[in-house]
Amino acid sequence: MSSNLARRRGRSQTSSIIATTVCFLVVALALTGLMAHVVVAMTRSANEIDDARATRAASAAIAALVNRLSATTTDNAVWDDAYKAISSSSAADWAYENWGKTTADYPLYDGAVVIGPDHSSIVSAYAKGKPFQPSAFFGEGFFQQINKAADAGQAPVVNFIRTETGIALIVSQAIQPFTAEGELPKLSVLSLYKDLTPEVLDILSGEHELDGLHLATAPEPGLLNTPITDMQGGVIGHLVWPSKAPGSAVFHQVYPYISAAIIILVMFLGGVLLVGASEARRLRQLAQAAIFEANHDSLSGLLNRQGLLALLEEVQGTDLAQPRLYLVDLDGFKAVNDAWGHAVGDDLIRIVSNALVACHPEVVAAARLGGDEFALVQIGSAAPGEIEATILALFAEPFKIDGRTIEVGASIGAAARDGDLPPLELLRRADMALYRAKENGRGRAIEYDPELDRERQKVAEMEALLKSAISDGAIEAFFQPLVSAATGAVTGLEALARWRTPTGNISPEIFIPLAERCGLIDALGTLMLKTSIEHAKSWPGLALSVNVSPVQLCNPEFAAEVISLLQGLDFDPKRLTLEITEGVLMTNPDQARRSIDHLKQVGIKFALDDFGCGYASIGALRQFGFDRMKIDRSLVSALDQSSNGADVLRATISLATALQIPVTAEGIENAHQAEILREAGCDQLQGYLIGKPMSALDISSKLREHAA
Ligand code: C2E
Ligand code: MG
Ligand code: MG
Repeated sequence: MSSNLARRRGRSQTSSIIATTVCFLVVALALTGLMAHVVVAMTRSANEIDDARATRAASAAIAALVNRLSATTTDNAVWDDAYKAISSSSAADWAYENWGKTTADYPLYDGAVVIGPDHSSIVSAYAKGKPFQPSAFFGEGFFQQINKAADAGQAPVVNFIRTETGIALIVSQAIQPFTAEGELPKLSVLSLYKDLTPEVLDILSGEHELDGLHLATAPEPGLLNTPITDMQGGVIGHLVWPSKAPGSAVFHQVYPYISAAIIILVMFLGGVLLVGASEARRLRQLAQAAIFEANHDSLSGLLNRQGLLALLEEVQGTDLAQPRLYLVDLDGFKAVNDAWGHAVGDDLIRIVSNALVACHPEVVAAARLGGDEFALVQIGSAAPGEIEATILALFAEPFKIDGRTIEVGASIGAAARDGDLPPLELLRRADMALYRAKENGRGRAIEYDPELDRERQKVAEMEALLKSAISDGAIEAFFQPLVSAATGAVTGLEALARWRTPTGNISPEIFIPLAERCGLIDALGTLMLKTSIEHAKSWPGLALSVNVSPVQLCNPEFAAEVISLLQGLDFDPKRLTLEITEGVLMTNPDQARRSIDHLKQVGIKFALDDFGCGYASIGALRQFGFDRMKIDRSLVSALDQSSNGADVLRATISLATALQIPVTAEGIENAHQAEILREAGCDQLQGYLIGKPMSALDISSKLREHAA
């Protein structure tokens, strides 16, 4: 997983957890808010409904009081006997007997007053069975009430009135006959009043469910009230009572449950928050671990390629000095793995990693890019070559692992960031330099130079040209004669590849390694084999030698391809010798051996080419079943320069002949060389002295000349 992907995924998971948690909290809070609102609204509206009822009950209570006293007053005032009596001289006595006396303990009224037709003289005035002075007791308002009530047929006048002792309900009506006959004189007025005493209020409260009903001069905070107004509409007091607040009562009953529910909800939400937070933390940690993993190499703990690029990118964004990048490739690491096993190889990687990361104080980061390839990033002012020397010094001493002494070397490619060079380009440049360092013979450091790019470009162009040369058949086979040392007769021909271009010939020493490097050698080898066999078919009786690259021999399909080619061209395998150089025996002995064995089974012979310039022993010669050995040209030309060259040659040749391996000497340029080699035991000679490589046409005419 790339670190960006990991980071993005981690971030999106964390934010989705946060979003889910927040959503959950918001929904839970919204539901809680709604429930709270419902409870409060229900409580409030239950209270309001009951308050409205109580207010109506209070009005009803007053109305009932009024109605009762009004009815009583009418019963007493509109009464034929009363009208007669009050109009007579015994009015005061009659009034006392019928009304004044009853005020002592009559529940319907507390006082009765009869005012004469002049509306000012008091005929009778009794309160609680005793005479009293109405004008003092009620004040001015009393006579206004009398004046209003004085007419016959007039409905009783009802008012609350402030008294000396408090508030009273007073009803006044003219004393009149039940049925009036003719015009009535001015009438006396009967007034009955009832004090609003606590006892009266108690009865009202009992009748109308108004617990706690009482009188007050002003509204009392927190209590319900109904104002009491006098005749002029002035407020003279308030009926006050506490709200029953049934909603609140119910609320108080369920309050413990609501509290418990809220506590549980809060705890639950807290839990959700905690779980959400810890899950987010866990995901963050996972994402961080994934980012670390994506950017680091698990074996060495160093950065990996991706981590290195990210670091270079980061450094690029800062004002730090330009970083330098060093690519370090171990030389001989594969041999360590092969010889000691992968566990030791891994140990070596770890040791080297630790050494590299700490090799110089200006090395700010180290990375492992592949099996045995490392990168160091340096920022600072170290002198040119200082870091390279420090790194190479690490490998000067062998490493010790479990008592083993392990020697590896290192090649270094260095590149400096220049301007705002992208990290990938910096890496490519260092890689280019490293490639050159390895090419130049390992154990060295090369600094990137644009010339390397130009060379690479040239090589790429060459590759393209070679590719089309192979497919166009522009690669030709030349042939160089091989003659018998004894008779001088031509016994065979060696095919040599020739590439002629409009700008001149390109040596096989150049294009063969190029074809090997760029994967064209199989096509080139097949082409050479095919064309040289086609030509050789017109030279019956002569053997044909074709050079084969070690790379071809390592291809598991090589043997089968050669055999089918021979069959297709109907060429006798016994006439064919394949020349190989010894390098392949070292690099991939098993596959080389399989190919050789397979091809030898059909009669193809093998010659070991360029013997004497490498490390192959004569023992290896026999072990791989070579049919012939070709002494390298350098040994032959050495004959002219030093006296002991001949001894070395003689010793080598006699060893081969002792093993019954015939020897060809190549590169013979003069008769002296030919003489020594013939004497030393070479049975076949080759070289400019005998014949240079020639085109098939030239060879044919040369052969015809010989025959003639
Ligand atoms: P080689 O197989 O050892 O071929 C002999 C080389 O020595 C040839 O060089 C030949 O021209 C040269 N030579 C022969 N006699 C003399 C002499 O008297 N004096 C001097 N100075 N040189 C002499 P050439 O043709 O340039 O080939 C070089 C090498 O390229 C060959 O060495 C061979 O290893 C490789 N090569 C050539 N053609 C092919 C091919 O078709 N396939 C493969 N795989 N390799 C080839
Ligand atoms: Mg050869
Ligand atoms: Mg050779």
